[in-house]
Formats: sequence, structure tokens, C-alpha cells
Amino acid sequence: MKFIVDRMLGRLAKELRMLGYDTVFYRGDNAYQMIKLAREEDRVILTRNTKLIPKRSEDRLVRIMEDKTPLQLKELIQKKVISLYEENLFSRCLLCNILLDKIPREEAKGKVPDFIFYQQKEFSRCPRCLRIYWRGSHQENMQKKVKELFG
Ligand SMILES: [Zn+2]
Repeated sequence: MKFIVDRMLGRLAKELRMLGYDTVFYRGDNAYQMIKLAREEDRVILTRNTKLIPKRSEDRLVRIMEDKTPLQLKELIQKKVISLYEENLFSRCLLCNILLDKIPREEAKGKVPDFIFYQQKEFSRCPRCLRIYWRGSHQENMQKKVKELFG
């Protein structure tokens, strides 16, 4: 399942990427263009816009009723739009929506704070923005939150 979200749902886009879902954040305000992009890339549209009406039977659109990001995630879980795949957690760059590459530990040296480098065994990198990711306490907290969310 791949998604495209409108500009009211930027935070939700990041959360979906964190869960491993390929999620495009559409920043424009041209609804037709967004629908077109969704068709081309076979994406489900997530929107809070009540005026956005799918025109073709192939268009898939989920209207988000909730206002706050954690509740929006819950809503998607309840509607069975998303599920938890632990192996996919933190596999994608939160900014670029691209799958991360695992890198040899030495390559992270000097590019992350020293204490992180000595603490962590595994690092991955976004091939586009070159941001380095690791399983820090932040991720562990998120993981706990995610598990609670999915029950
Ligand atoms: Zn990136």
C-alpha cells in the first residue's frame, strides 16, 4: 500500500514513513494534480478535504476525520488501511521517503556525534539526503508507542 497525503497531513506523512509506508507529501493545492499523481503511482489518497471527490472507480481515497496525528494513525488502523510490519519500521528516510541503505559502522564515524558512534552498532543512510539514522532511544520510544497504538 502506497499513499499520497495532502498538505494538511504533513505530520501524518512522516509517521507513515516511520512505519515504512511509501508516502508522498503533496504540497500543492491542485486537487486534480494530486489525483492524477495518485493514479500514475498507484497510491491511496489520504485527505481531510471534504470537497475532494474521487471521479473514477479506480481512485482510492480515505477521508481522515481526526484532527491530531496520533488519532489519525488510530483511525487508519481502525479502518484497516495500515498494519504494523515490524521489519519495515524505520526503513525509510522521514524526509525523502526513500529506503535507507545499511552502511558499515566505520562510515558513520565523524558524521554522527561521538557518543552515538560508540553507543550504536548499526547505522543506515538515506541515499538522497545522506542523513544517517540509527536505532537510538528516540526510535525505541517510538517503537513502544507504535506497538501500543496497534495494540
Ligand atoms: Zn533523506
